[in-house]
Amino acid sequence: MLFVSTIAVFALAVGLFHPESPLPDEWHPLKPLHIAAPVTPLTAWKLDQAANDPKQCRAILAGAAQMRYLDDKRVDENCGIAPRVEIAAVGASTIGTIETNCATALRLAMWEQHGVQPAADHYLNTQATRLRHAGSYSCRKIRTTSGGSTQWSSHAMALAIDITGFDFADGTRIRLIDDWNGDLDKKLFLQAVRDSACIWFRTTLSPDYNALHADHFHLQATGWGTCR
Ligand SMILES: [Zn+2]
Repeated sequence: MLFVSTIAVFALAVGLFHPESPLPDEWHPLKPLHIAAPVTPLTAWKLDQAANDPKQCRAILAGAAQMRYLDDKRVDENCGIAPRVEIAAVGASTIGTIETNCATALRLAMWEQHGVQPAADHYLNTQATRLRHAGSYSCRKIRTTSGGSTQWSSHAMALAIDITGFDFADGTRIRLIDDWNGDLDKKLFLQAVRDSACIWFRTTLSPDYNALHADHFHLQATGWGTCR
């Protein structure tokens, strides 16, 4: 028994630390996230590590997005963007140029790759070419159906982005406001991308959440798993 476990530990050590490790990077806990790599049980953990490490976040994002590094924006303790990036595309989808927190952009890129494109292929038989958004950074407090709140919004640190729709290679357009309860294919696509957003973001609010979200998905890099 001791012999068997010694062999197992040895094999694990070789697998992890040998420079020619046969372990693919996506299964290797010490190798950084790669946005286009197949999803494994380690991917969500790698994403959390990268999203919390400004240098790693920017380096990984640069490989899969049209992006520019910007100096951090520090307004006060409630508002600002750090680490701050500007993105114009993630994966195969352009996006109206937007400044955001690197963690938000990185999670958006994971969602585009592993949620939006597979759903476009499956439900619509085409590719997404553009994500429509309604902003990320906004130095403001949370809005609720009963009015304002005293709590700061995740948008105040650009830790969320609001997505209003999608354009596709075949000319199809989907807008949440028109299509959440629209044609079956579009509706199924929107439900599928909402559900996958819950994997790649920490908080996902859709039209199912409340009337304030009838026209967009609120995709947030922080939170405790709200998905509705
Ligand atoms: Zn929002």
